[in-house]
Amino acid sequence: MLIRKAYKYKLKTNPSLEDTLNEFSGANRFVWNKALFLNKKRLERHEKKDRKLIRYNDLAGLLKLWKQSDEWGFLKGIHSQTLQQTLKDLDKAFKDAFDPKQPLKRFPVFKKKEIVSGFRFPQGIKIHCNRVYLPKIGWVRYFNSKKIEGIIKNATVSKRNGKWFVSIQVEQEIKVFSKKPKNEVGIDLGIKKNVVLSDGRILEGARSFKKQRGRLAKSQRHLSRKMKFSSNWKKQKSKITKIHEKIANVRNDRLHWMSNRLSNEYNVIYLEALKVRNMSKSASGTLENPGRNVSAKRGLNREILDQGWGEFRRQLSYKQEWSNGWLQAVDPKYTSQKCSQASCGYTAKENRKSQSVFHCRKCGYEENADVNASKNILAVGQTVFACGGNSLEFPLKQEPLAA
Ligand SMILES: [Zn+2]
Repeated sequence: MLIRKAYKYKLKTNPSLEDTLNEFSGANRFVWNKALFLNKKRLERHEKKDRKLIRYNDLAGLLKLWKQSDEWGFLKGIHSQTLQQTLKDLDKAFKDAFDPKQPLKRFPVFKKKEIVSGFRFPQGIKIHCNRVYLPKIGWVRYFNSKKIEGIIKNATVSKRNGKWFVSIQVEQEIKVFSKKPKNEVGIDLGIKKNVVLSDGRILEGARSFKKQRGRLAKSQRHLSRKMKFSSNWKKQKSKITKIHEKIANVRNDRLHWMSNRLSNEYNVIYLEALKVRNMSKSASGTLENPGRNVSAKRGLNREILDQGWGEFRRQLSYKQEWSNGWLQAVDPKYTSQKCSQASCGYTAKENRKSQSVFHCRKCGYEENADVNASKNILAVGQTVFACGGNSLEFPLKQEPLAA
């Protein structure tokens, strides 16, 4: 099976190279923000018929005009393909944001200089002796931490905390193995970030980040007292970025540990489908026919994102695909209120004695509430699977792209 995978390396830079990279990244940020601004203006128009987005082909045409202008002539010195790629990325971001199958995707936002900057080369990348060739920039040395395997597809250059990185995406052929036939499990994504299995086992998620959150809040207070863009402000800002990174790394490691374990052990996994609060149609609209106030979607599902369950689903999904397994989404309706005893099945709100305990009012069955739910998910999933499966698609079914 052909998969895509990304290798990320730290670049060895010098002041003159950094100038070039900053120039590239600034130009790409400019193009992104400018095209986004034009589209945002359109989305805010009063008349529905005027609310049309400028799509990639027209944006690429505009880019040519910008390059010829006196005002933005600096764009001429930048590799065209990276700028076009940025416009393609923006176009895709709009497309995804309007896609009902991708409820977690938010609307694109303006790129700020001090946060993250980067740009992508869609082709023309070469690797030789710990050096990477970036079109129009040249050969750049990097810290080689891992050997690249596969066919190089593209490369993304990014800056974080003052350091530059390159992420090289490759296509790789992997061997697909099959597991023992029909080894299946139901999963409930419990409270306290645990993964609860239908056989009663509980995989503990990353512990709470109370301490880090405290540090974060404190650092953010300090930041607000500093003068914006002063050197102390920048120092404090980078401290905050580091705390964020640490939280994200710990959480992500844990999610990978859990998804690896499950994918290695089970070939059929039943998982509750994403519970997504419905967004009113008028606020969102479609790509061809955008509604007003589209940015209202931005705050949506913050809690789901915070817990990382979207990422967990994505990992399980591609890991099951790689290992020739199956991930089946299950409608979680009533799974927390229904008695999981096959002989009973009594469904009532009152069965849920508390957040953590399930107690059936009819047959008296008592169980950890999340375990009861995962048993129901297994049962519902088996029925769906018997009928061909996959009635509920997962929104994110792809391998991670270059960061
Ligand atoms: Zn019962």
